[in-house]
Amino acid sequence: MPKWIFVTGGVLSGLGKGLISASVSKLLQQRDLNIVPVKCDGYLNVDPGTMNPHEHGEVYVLEDGTEVDMDFGHYERFLDIEGRGDWNLTSGKIFQSVINKEREGEYLGETVQMIPHVTDEIKKRWEKVAGTEEADIVIVEIGGTVGDMENQFYLEAARQICNEEESFLIHTTLVPYLETTGEQKTKPTQHSVKKLQEAGLDPDMVVGRSKKPLDESAVEKISLFCDVPEKAVVSDPNLESVYQLPLEFDEQNVDEIVAEKLDLPERENNIAEWENRVQNLLGETGAKIAICGKYTEMDDSYASVEEALKHAGAASNTSIQADNIDAAEITAEELEEYDGIVIPGGFGKRGVEAKMEVIKYCRENNVPILGLCYGMQLMVIEQARGLGIDASSEEWGQDGVNVIAELPGQKDIEELGGTMRLGEFEAEVTGEVKDIYGSEKVSERHRHRYEVDPEYIEKLEEGEIRFSGFHGDLPEFVEIKDHKFFVGTQAHPEFKSSLQNPNPLYKAFIEACL
Ligand code: GLN
Repeated sequence: MPKWIFVTGGVLSGLGKGLISASVSKLLQQRDLNIVPVKCDGYLNVDPGTMNPHEHGEVYVLEDGTEVDMDFGHYERFLDIEGRGDWNLTSGKIFQSVINKEREGEYLGETVQMIPHVTDEIKKRWEKVAGTEEADIVIVEIGGTVGDMENQFYLEAARQICNEEESFLIHTTLVPYLETTGEQKTKPTQHSVKKLQEAGLDPDMVVGRSKKPLDESAVEKISLFCDVPEKAVVSDPNLESVYQLPLEFDEQNVDEIVAEKLDLPERENNIAEWENRVQNLLGETGAKIAICGKYTEMDDSYASVEEALKHAGAASNTSIQADNIDAAEITAEELEEYDGIVIPGGFGKRGVEAKMEVIKYCRENNVPILGLCYGMQLMVIEQARGLGIDASSEEWGQDGVNVIAELPGQKDIEELGGTMRLGEFEAEVTGEVKDIYGSEKVSERHRHRYEVDPEYIEKLEEGEIRFSGFHGDLPEFVEIKDHKFFVGTQAHPEFKSSLQNPNPLYKAFIEACL
């Protein structure tokens, strides 16, 4: 029988529940337990692949090709595990399958209802994950805020499990600081716990997100009004790096408190190695990198790229400053301040000409550049134009020579959800890429609909770039040999990088930048 940890949120969203779950799991992992994270999202999209990443945050892609919530990035980066698609529930997935079952006659004669049909579907999925993964602990993060209409049935399913099985509930809230009185205020937390209790759930631990660590009086009040012991009122203060959170929780004995209630085995390992990497991460800035995409404020669309750069830096004992730069806004002088440039993935035509200007600048001035997916496609178009071809991508729907064309197999696809080339594919590599990975075979994750048309390879190789990786006929890597670092990949290697195991391509890029 697995044991359950539920993580709920109160007051407002965006408190970093995913990071909290990942940090608690990181500590519990040191007890040699198999911890499986599950994330439940309230929205009706079947997966986040159809949402705008500039609003909702990055779409994260798993090895099996499922597009999932960006919290899976935290889980994989912290826990060094490979997530699977069925670990992410969305209301879209749940309703779709309940309605399909109703049409198939599975509930014949019954009135199909939120409770028990929707809640049973949720519980069945949680239990299935627990079973297939042989989990010791399933940690279920319930997205949104208690009181939201759209996560009510997840809370109800959690309530039922808490009644039947061994469980621990972590409630995360915001503890604001009121300047005028110089106090940390706990009332929002108290109200959100009341909301939780209305749903029939009692917290075993309250994690208070705040600027500074919770002071004594805030801890006392939360403990008193929310019915948790003082030691189970945990501070989640602002930190320089998210990777410090497991260390912060370790100091507050978070895993010990969970272990007591769930009767877990003793801790086997410490997290010294993690601590070392975190120290490096906080060191002096060794390189300044510009991620040249298109931006809105407070953008999380390239979260994994930023993290992979930091992992690579930490492996070289240095911290990395990664700035999100709008390619269309940056001037030549500003570009010169950077040690390296990343052209990240993207969609649509806006901003592409500016990105190609940046690529040209790097190519001509021997500035390290890493092209990711769209970034590689633009490297190829830029090269083609240098050879006098009026090159473009089929994605732009304009006249010109489409050196980037729709993938074979994409033409007949009409539905847009979950239909790109997704997940892990292997490439046979040569050249510098082979040296970087130290292998002739490289497996990375993908998410794209377009691809370099192999027909143009010969012509393109009259220029500087070389194609140095293929999956069958499909080009996967390009590089320029006599350049500090000029590599493009059709894949997203940032989805396979963790603090303890940085991605080789990012490592090589950062070394070149340093
Ligand atoms: N828009 C491009 C394509 O669909 C690139 C996608 C991406 O960068 N993820 O092929």
